[in-house]
Amino acid sequence: MAQDDQAEKPDVQQQENVKRAGKKNKKNYKSGGNIFTAFLSQFTYGVSFGYGATFYSHNLKGFGIYQPANGNGVFIFDQAFIDRDTLPSVYNNWVNNVQEFGGLLIPVDSLSTPIITNGIPIFPEDLKIGSDSIKLGYKSIAHNIPVTVMVSIDVDRYRIGGGVTMELHKMSQFHPTALKNTLRSFRTDFSISFFKKYFGFIGITTYESWQYKMIADLQFGKINRGKHFNKDLISSGLYFNFGYTVEKSLSEYFKVFIRPSVEWKAYTLTVPESGLSVNHRQPALYVQFGATIRIHVLPRCPVPGCRIQMNHVHDSKEYRSKVHPIWKWQNPNYGQNYPQFIKYKRKNRRKLNLY
Ligand SMILES: [Zn+2]
Repeated sequence: MAQDDQAEKPDVQQQENVKRAGKKNKKNYKSGGNIFTAFLSQFTYGVSFGYGATFYSHNLKGFGIYQPANGNGVFIFDQAFIDRDTLPSVYNNWVNNVQEFGGLLIPVDSLSTPIITNGIPIFPEDLKIGSDSIKLGYKSIAHNIPVTVMVSIDVDRYRIGGGVTMELHKMSQFHPTALKNTLRSFRTDFSISFFKKYFGFIGITTYESWQYKMIADLQFGKINRGKHFNKDLISSGLYFNFGYTVEKSLSEYFKVFIRPSVEWKAYTLTVPESGLSVNHRQPALYVQFGATIRIHVLPRCPVPGCRIQMNHVHDSKEYRSKVHPIWKWQNPNYGQNYPQFIKYKRKNRRKLNLY
């Protein structure tokens, strides 16, 4: 078995020579295909899936944190009111869908008669911390499963294209980055959201051999973070994803690849009626696995019984082999299913008729 594998690896130098030779004697016959398939064959279509981790953090400058002794909320409030005993407003869900929290029935008079207050009274056992003297914040890692479809075209060393990513985005707990023993962790009011990303990309080939290609590329585009992120309150610019693609050709038309990448994205959540906003950062690391196909330039050979294994000509028109499967490499040397003549394959060494 090992010997067979060895035998199937073609000589790279030989490949290069044939490529060059092929370029020289181009082309005194027409493609059997039409202009439409020729156009489509310029494009490569890909699909990939993978795993990612998104690192949430934010800037709470201008805010204080209010943590009531009873209950489990973590609220923010306008730092300007830090010295008051009753805060005019506090906000929760300030990661994705900020809401004012108020209108409570709270016993404040000596007879413990519930009255509706116009603000949030802060009790001595509650925690109220401003951000002027200490850098307040929380961190969390979300787990992501992205699925991407894309189309691209190679022009010399460059690759351009576009695509769409659907991403399952699973939230986890936010932990305080300061005052870790005092501030509590919290969760968002949702656990899973579906992100959609629409992107264009540009890449440059940094290495190319007969079977491998490595491309540094940059995706950039817009993100829809799904229904749990309030679109009326959120604004965000482009996101950027810088990746390194390592491609392996399994045939001229079929490739597999791996693409590790780092991503930068952020958004601003406006806190209504406060004139304040929170900047949330969502950088991420990904690794994706995928496959690409290209459509044949040439139509399949229509001649019954034709066993030619490489691109060939009938009636001054070029066709591709009908016995060669699309997922297998067609050696440009001699077009075999196997880069080595099959009579040299070990398992065929005693056969007289190889076909
Ligand atoms: Zn033929």
